[in-house]
Amino acid sequence: MKDSDILMDTSILYRCTQKYYDKCLEAYDINFSHLPILIQIYEHEGIAMNRLADMCGYDKGTITKSIQKLMQSNYVAMASDEADKRVKRLYTTDQTKGMIAQLYMVRKDWWEHLTQDMEEADITAFSRIQSKLCENARSFDDVKRGSLKLFEMQKVSFRDYPGNLACVLYTGGCNFRCPFCKNSNLVYVSEGQNEISGDTIYSYLSKRAGLIDCVTLSGGEPLMHELRPFLSKLHDLGYRIKLDTNGAYPAYLKELVRNGYVDYVAMDVKNGWTRYGESAGRDDLDFHLIQESIDFLKQGLVPYEFRTTIVKELHEKSDLLEMKELLRGAKKCVLQVFEDNGQIIQSGLHPVNMDTMRTFQAILAESVACVQIKEGKERDGMCMK
Ligand code: SF4
Repeated sequence: MKDSDILMDTSILYRCTQKYYDKCLEAYDINFSHLPILIQIYEHEGIAMNRLADMCGYDKGTITKSIQKLMQSNYVAMASDEADKRVKRLYTTDQTKGMIAQLYMVRKDWWEHLTQDMEEADITAFSRIQSKLCENARSFDDVKRGSLKLFEMQKVSFRDYPGNLACVLYTGGCNFRCPFCKNSNLVYVSEGQNEISGDTIYSYLSKRAGLIDCVTLSGGEPLMHELRPFLSKLHDLGYRIKLDTNGAYPAYLKELVRNGYVDYVAMDVKNGWTRYGESAGRDDLDFHLIQESIDFLKQGLVPYEFRTTIVKELHEKSDLLEMKELLRGAKKCVLQVFEDNGQIIQSGLHPVNMDTMRTFQAILAESVACVQIKEGKERDGMCMK
């Protein structure tokens, strides 16, 4: 089959499905685009609007318009979360509950029409392949990556890569603006900021091959850069590679892991989903991308850890309860005690006390195999700028 046939078939399937649903749903004053949303709310009563957008793969504007329409037609009601008024929770109305069974039948009839004359095994195979195609489509990564720019180098660290002596390299630029970020100079990169040349780094690492075990790529966000040629060279020198990432580029992360470019991943998990955007300094954050990176790492293709910097103003028990669900089944999570090094992005933030850290640790330990608390400075050893 030619690619053009697949595109055409997908287009026909979409348009015919839309036509069918629009016609059947006309009597209910909703259309094709509203049905999956309504069903998701019915099956997850009280779901947060942001969470619904992530599940359905909608942007904020689209989901807001659809919810407004469903509310106008008295199918959905919205209520503020009792603990956090900013979180909008969605419920179906009695009107929806009275007719949803008919909508399930509308959906079922169309599926039966589409799959008529097909073998059960073919239908199962199609469903599996369709899910995979959707996963691949959602992970489409159209980011244009620049050449690698390194601004800082910590020559030796005893604490960065578990059980190893590491050299830590810091890339410049980040797509997040976490209020508690201690590397604001790598987020707000100044015009005059000096880069460290690749040759300088390569020369240093060539001489230490066998003495230092591994190299950590940190930042900033390393996945905003084209890393592959540089990582290949480091592997050729015998270094293992640890990657620090904020998890916003799952497609690239998967590629690097699956092709053996990285040997260990430490991913920041900033918060539960309700306050994720706030904690990343990005109101428009597509949380689905974060979820995708978490789910991928949990598969365990490489050793990994999740890390969360706990900040009094950003983390409460309810947030940790959400994180407990996000990380369920993970092998390791490190809770870092927030420290203000005088360079953080937003002033006026504070650490929580140790009792609270231990309470949070206990919450996560209900779903994560190993939860550690890390105190003290993250950078040790010698630093070169
Ligand atoms: S803490 Fe946040 S803003 Fe700072 S480098 Fe990491 S992801 Fe970027």
